[in-house]
Amino acid sequence: MKKQPFVSNEQLQEIVKQFPTPFHLYDEKGIRANVQAVRDAFAWNPGFREYFAVKAEPNPFIIQILKEYGCGCDCSSLTELMLSDAVGIRGEQIMFSSNNTPPEEFVFADKLGAVINLDDFTHIDFLEQTIGKIPETISCRYNPGGVYEISNGIMDNPGDAKYGFTKEQLLEGYQLLKEKGAKHFGLHSFLVSNTVTNDYYPALAKTLFELAVEIQQKLGIKLDFINLSGGVGIAYQPDQEPNDIAAIGEGVHKVFDEILVPAGLENTAIYTEMGRFMTGPYGCLVTKAVHEKHTYKDYIGVDACAANLMRPAMYGAYHHITVMGKEDAPCDHKYDVVGSLCENNDKFAVDRMLPEIEKGDYLVIHDTGAHGFAMGYNYNGRLWSAEVLLREDGTAQLIRRAQTPKDYFATFDCFAIYQNIPFSES
Ligand SMILES: *Cc1c(COP(=O)(O)O)cnc(C)c1O
Repeated sequence: MKKQPFVSNEQLQEIVKQFPTPFHLYDEKGIRANVQAVRDAFAWNPGFREYFAVKAEPNPFIIQILKEYGCGCDCSSLTELMLSDAVGIRGEQIMFSSNNTPPEEFVFADKLGAVINLDDFTHIDFLEQTIGKIPETISCRYNPGGVYEISNGIMDNPGDAKYGFTKEQLLEGYQLLKEKGAKHFGLHSFLVSNTVTNDYYPALAKTLFELAVEIQQKLGIKLDFINLSGGVGIAYQPDQEPNDIAAIGEGVHKVFDEILVPAGLENTAIYTEMGRFMTGPYGCLVTKAVHEKHTYKDYIGVDACAANLMRPAMYGAYHHITVMGKEDAPCDHKYDVVGSLCENNDKFAVDRMLPEIEKGDYLVIHDTGAHGFAMGYNYNGRLWSAEVLLREDGTAQLIRRAQTPKDYFATFDCFAIYQNIPFSES
């Protein structure tokens, strides 16, 4: 399948007059259509809620759009909780799925009335000591260990993951939580990241639904909700078939009817904590070719770098690239597309076949709407880019300004001489 940018060349030429590159651009229309499709896919479950994984795209403008469709927030840190609070998402609309959690974060999550999803058996006592009680509603994260296999083969290796309770700990944990006064219980598990198959959620649901029946039989506890968490992926590669959320929702519905309904657990709410699937395809990094270099290979130097998008450098992740205005030109040039960090892994593409690129061409790096801007960092003193929203009416709105040198130096306020360091605001 040919991957097309959500922005046309004509639109982009206007936007770059308003906002200098590089910037991440988001597609309001695409985000809205997708969150509606998620809602529709799980409409069979009256208690369904998507808790958007804030870490994927921590921008209040984007979260506000998702909120209109009933989404809550999945947070795992103090500032993510603050962001959720700022958007007016509080109480049971927050899922606090953290790990190795600092005590003050449990305190703040409790203050906001968030649902706390415990990552470890020892956190039962830790939470009780920290906030002085066990909340009435509480969730536990399950890790089945071993390798996780579905019909398509081995998916991942939960036995190596730092997250969650073992099964024995889980059964003991619910018992202990009940004794300590908990009344409403949830079960959570996140086993595989970025799955591109409609079978992952249904397979995970089967595992968790069977466990819910066992918990009911052994402990007499009826779970109020089952949280399938994240892991629903996107088609980064042009030859991948994107996930079909309607088929995924139907797949979960089928195992729900097979396992939970006969056990009398038909009132169980299904929760999700998707990040990547919610916003990933609806963001792109817009960057300009500023240099070309021909040595042992052919390089195109762009004005973005791994500090704006870390996935290629960190995981060798593929992000599709469109050279704007040359969408239909033959891909007959082999390039490394590089940023300016003093790190040889600062490459958005290696040996990529692209149309001939000239200095001044705009490149759209696809699928940066989740875990893109959010993973940015300041190595080499490189600053974070702006984030821009392409509104449904075709206008562009700044939803986060770019960092300035002043922001970069702000944490040196302890270094008095900083006041005298000349820097430009632009
Ligand atoms: C990262 C994360 C998510 C979101 O994962 P995606 O793969 O982006 O959907 C959900 N829940 C938890 C606890 C996470 O850590």
